[in-house]
Amino acid sequence: MIEISDAISTFSAIIELAKTAMSARDSAKVEEALFELKVKYLSAMEGSLQLQGQIAALQGDKAALQSKLLVSKQFLLDTQAELDQLKDSLAEREHYALYAMDAGIFCYRYKTGADDEQTPAHYLCQPCWDSGKKSILRMFKDTRYLCPEHDHHKLMLTHPVHD
Ligand SMILES: [Zn+2]
Repeated sequence: MIEISDAISTFSAIIELAKTAMSARDSAKVEEALFELKVKYLSAMEGSLQLQGQIAALQGDKAALQSKLLVSKQFLLDTQAELDQLKDSLAEREHYALYAMDAGIFCYRYKTGADDEQTPAHYLCQPCWDSGKKSILRMFKDTRYLCPEHDHHKLMLTHPVHD
């Protein structure tokens, strides 16, 4: 790997050789200095090309790292949003308690006073709430409730017990 300090010292040597060639009075010495100057110049050009290749590779690495950084930041944002959603969901679950509507028939009942009485009493469908879906039961034929999400819940949620 070519170091930048190597390239600088090579260019310095070229400058010194050019000075030597210009100050020499002997044509043989001038030819010798010019030949050495050409060799050093070609070597410096080769080193310069290697440096450009290294710079391009480093720029590619930098772009790849920046891309990974963006992906990581987005992952963190998504994870934070998911965590916030889970916290909200857990906090909301604290407002409900399992309630027996009838023998073997359950729902979740809103705990009165959970939010300073701003929310009216209501029931949630137990199968829906356990699967993460909030479905408020609807009154059906006076004393019966149904889940608006699933027709088969109609049969399960009849004859609620009232306090
Ligand atoms: Zn349901």
